[in-house]
Formats: sequence, C-alpha cells, structure tokens
Amino acid sequence: MLPYGRQSIDDADVEAVVAALGSDWLTTGPRVAEFEADLEKVAGAPCVTVTNGTTALHAAYAAAGVTSGDEVITTPMTFVATASGAAMLGAKVIFADVEEDTANLDPAAVEAALTERTKVIAAVDYAGVPADYDRLRKLGESSGALLVGDAAHSIGSTYKGRPVGTLADLTTFSFFPTKNFTTGEGGAVASTRPELIKRLKSFRTVGVVREGLRHADEGAWWYEVPEFGLNYRLPDVLCALGSAQLRRLGEFKARRAYLSARYDELLADVPGLRLPAQRPDTDPMRHLYPVRILDGRRREVFDRLRAAGIGVQVNYIPVYWHPVFEDLGYRRGMCPVAEAFYAEELSLPLFADLSDADQDRVVETLRGILGS
Ligand SMILES: *Cc1c(COP(=O)(O)O)cnc(C)c1O
Repeated sequence: MLPYGRQSIDDADVEAVVAALGSDWLTTGPRVAEFEADLEKVAGAPCVTVTNGTTALHAAYAAAGVTSGDEVITTPMTFVATASGAAMLGAKVIFADVEEDTANLDPAAVEAALTERTKVIAAVDYAGVPADYDRLRKLGESSGALLVGDAAHSIGSTYKGRPVGTLADLTTFSFFPTKNFTTGEGGAVASTRPELIKRLKSFRTVGVVREGLRHADEGAWWYEVPEFGLNYRLPDVLCALGSAQLRRLGEFKARRAYLSARYDELLADVPGLRLPAQRPDTDPMRHLYPVRILDGRRREVFDRLRAAGIGVQVNYIPVYWHPVFEDLGYRRGMCPVAEAFYAEELSLPLFADLSDADQDRVVETLRGILGS
C-alpha cells in the first residue's frame, strides 16, 4: 500500500542515531540543547522539546495556565489532541467554525465565541497553510486570551514573511513519521516569551526547578517542585535524528512544493474534484494534499483508491463527533462549514520520497474513478 505520508531516512540520519547510541547520553544530554538550537533557527523562537505533538499541546496549555473553569476556543478540523490537551486540564472546549477554503479557524467565528472565561485561542495550520494569525492575535490581545498555534503540519511555513513559531504566544510541533520531518515520536513548543519557556521546561521535567527556590540554603543537591509536571523529555537519541533531519528541511519543502504543484497541474481538468486552497500571504510547507470529492462520492472514491493500493486518508473527523465529546453534550451540526469540508475531504499521498511515477499512478487511478 502506498502510504499517504511517510518518513525519509538517509545514511546521515542513521549515522547520527548510531553516534548518539555510542555516546555517554541516551537522554537529556548535549543533543537535546543542540536540537533545540537547530529548531530555533527554523521556528524563529526558543523551543522546548517534548515526547510528541500531543504532549506538546498538553504542555503548552499547562504553561498558559489553563485550568478548570477556563474556556479554550479551537477548530474541530484537527486531530483530537488539539482539544483533548485542554480538556484534560479541566477547560471547556468551545469549537468555532472554519474558513470554507483553507479549513483553518475562522477569526469571525472565534470573535463570536469569546467570553470573559476565554483563556486560550488555539489555531491549527491545516495541511501546512498558516492560519490568519494577524486577526487571531488581535482577538487575543483585545480579550486577554493567549494564542496557541498547533503547527503539527506547518513547521517550515511562513506567514507574511514570518516563520511559524513566532506567530502565536505558544506554537506546538509534532515530529511523527508522517509529518514534515521526524524523530520517530517527538514534538516541541516554541515561544518568544521567556516566562512561558521556563514553565514549559519545568512541566516537561516533572515540575522540577533549580532556580528561584523557596528553601535555597539546604545544599547543592537541592531542587524543588513548585507545580506538578510530567516526564515529557525527548531522548538524546531522538534529538540526534531531529538535528540530522532538520538539515534536509529545505530539500523536503522543495519536494513537497514540487509534488503539490504537479498534483495541481495533473488534476486541474478532472471533474467532480476541488483542489486545495492557496493563500497569497503564505509560503506553506505543504504537509497534506487535501482534495474535495464532490457529488457525495467521497466514501466510494476512498474505498476504490484503497482497493487499488493507494493509502488515502481523511483529515479529519470533526473533533466533537468523538464519543468523549458526544458524552459531554456536543452535537453534530455545531460547525456546519467544518462538517461540509469533512464530508468531501480526501488526502492524497504526499511525502518527500513519493516518486513521480507513484504520483502518476495516484492521478491516473483517481481520474479513472471520477471518469475522465
Ligand atoms: C499529528 C498531530 C498532532 C499530534 O502529534 P503526535 O506527535 O502524533 O502526538 C496534533 N495536532 C495535529 C494537527 C496533528 O496533525
């Protein structure tokens, strides 16, 4: 089965991991700081690595101070972790609808959902296209809410010339194998605000701090836990892979751009199909190639492509359709634009090592099914 996404591992990646395995450090050694410095060059802001994109969101919401009684406004067109990280801290998740073309959080819908309890507005850069951060930031500033960007799809993208990582108060990344680059499992949170970086660092290290101690004169071994945290540390071995992969980020971006442009061209005249949105202000690192299958044929097209060995995917099931939200009283129909998008969405294979020949097979099979 041709996958919809997968990693690209070369000899330099393997060598970097082998070198880390033979070193004195398997976890929390020099490669963590090195990888965080390498990430900062791409993200434009200091980064704290964590174990995955889900724990990056949990850590970001914890650093933002999200707690019970707070409201977090987010999009339903995302992986469940964007919402569940806030819900697990006791927040009430408010789903605001998305823009019709990008499927990114609609600032007008966010504005309508703001209350005095809104603690965080959490956007997602769907498919790698940055959300409308200038408008979202204004809403955050006027309401006192922090802005979180779930950039699991968009590390390497820019918005109005600014890198993803500098656009929100807290920006989260995922390094899962299908994402723009990988550490196996892995993630990070970027922030331009030093006090948030400090909170992220203690949260991912079980709440431990070694500065600003309450009882400072106990001895050199002393540390304190002023707030609860979890062990979300990313091991040195995986950070070694991350730094090696980051050296290829430009190459990955160029290949994804080439393949996306090729899909645009080869699929332009196929009937019953709508191609993904472009935004003039953004230079996206294209994570997904999400087409829309019209005329109610999405399920049929999904099944027939899978039967032909083409591993298409649906991104995403509207988050509040999951039983955990259903049981809390969330009902279908809340975000009609997102639901209409979901009903037609199909992600075609897109990854750096996808060959032109495999892409041609995807195009020809889809063209055969849609009848042109
Ligand atoms: C992948 C992803 C996550 C979660 O990242 P993991 O590393 O798989 O835990 C969160 N949000 C979005 C939008 C994602 O695509």
